[in-house]
Amino acid sequence: MTGKHGGRAIGILTSGGDSPGMNAAIRAVVLAAREQGFKTLGIRRGYKGFCAGDWFLITPESVEGIARSGGTVLGSARMEEFKEKDVRARAIAGARTAGIEGLVVIGGDGSFAGARDVSEEGLPCIGIPGTIDNDIVCSEYTIGYDTALNTVVKLADTIADTAASHDRCVVLEIMGNMAGDLTLYGGLACGAAAVVLLEETCFGQEEAWSEEKGKTVPRFLPNPGEVTRINDSIARRICAGKRAGQNSFLVLVAEGVTGKKDGFGSTRYPGGAEAMAKAIEAATAETFGSAGRVETRAQILGYIQRGGDPTARDRVLAARMGDYAVRLLSQGRRNEVVILRGSEVTSIEIDEALRLQREKRAGVNLSDYLNTEDRALARRLSICDLENDAAAEGGV
Ligand code: ATP
Repeated sequence: MTGKHGGRAIGILTSGGDSPGMNAAIRAVVLAAREQGFKTLGIRRGYKGFCAGDWFLITPESVEGIARSGGTVLGSARMEEFKEKDVRARAIAGARTAGIEGLVVIGGDGSFAGARDVSEEGLPCIGIPGTIDNDIVCSEYTIGYDTALNTVVKLADTIADTAASHDRCVVLEIMGNMAGDLTLYGGLACGAAAVVLLEETCFGQEEAWSEEKGKTVPRFLPNPGEVTRINDSIARRICAGKRAGQNSFLVLVAEGVTGKKDGFGSTRYPGGAEAMAKAIEAATAETFGSAGRVETRAQILGYIQRGGDPTARDRVLAARMGDYAVRLLSQGRRNEVVILRGSEVTSIEIDEALRLQREKRAGVNLSDYLNTEDRALARRLSICDLENDAAAEGGV
């Protein structure tokens, strides 16, 4: 079918949270599509634009230079109504009329669920993992993670400077959805005094309010007893460090470890770092007296982690994945997500990718995903060995 833009076309959209490198993926898709004889229609604001027919011709010339910028030139959005079949049916019909023969969807697992439905309902889709959290379990890396990790490291280093000048402790809360990669590897890279991750401190899951998504989403359920134990343990170690002559401390804590209950009994993120900071300050005041306490500040990095120019690594991954997605579509493939396995770009069925997501969330084979050796390394290289503390106390 040929639409008003003439010739065969593929559509591309970015959906869910944005991530640095999405533009590099868009550029790669446009250039690879030209090579395969397709025009590219850029769809604005994710599935919202897909439903509204809000698309435009992206020429290869117009994408020159975009690979180096963060965010997404197409914009991104969330749209709950896209889960309704009749809403999707109208959107698919509109896309067909415009000559769109296939769709590339860059986003997270929610966006892939939409892409799977659209594929099954007649319009072939290929997903590309774009999220800073690195929480697409079937892919070693997601586009944007490397940039976000470097941002975390840079900001943690920056804050460590001022913490050192004022003999302070800083508790840095790291955004990362239900994945702890940014916290773990950020902590390792920065030489943090302690790294506190989700699965170690939480049990089960609950529905928790997400400012980001504007709705409740599944989250690990913080275990208040465990959080208290960790706060105490960190405070004790910081006291020991201070006695031994260390004057400033950096603690990296994953968002969600210490979520605060709101007035409606739902846990809200972010903000838990403040409770941890208060506990550390109180414990060190108890040990050294008010004048000798370790002043402790909480800092939430939040959305600053999502912006910035993509690193070379993210740009290259985006180029490889964008090119691969177009090749899949031109071979008549559909309903797959492009992934990185080892150093190889390949693909798996979206259903399989989503099954692995569900399994991880349910805790099936969790140890496969926990980067156990690196967690142990982070503990060995920190002054706070929370696990050994727990063992010494006969705890977890
Ligand atoms: P992030 O990692 O930033 O959360 P995401 O892609 O997982 O990215 P979601 O908000 O979960 O973000 O999903 C993005 C959009 O995908 C939703 O707003 C909705 O339009 C669509 N979507 C999500 N789940 C489904 C589903 N089960 N069926 C159809 N469409 C869906």
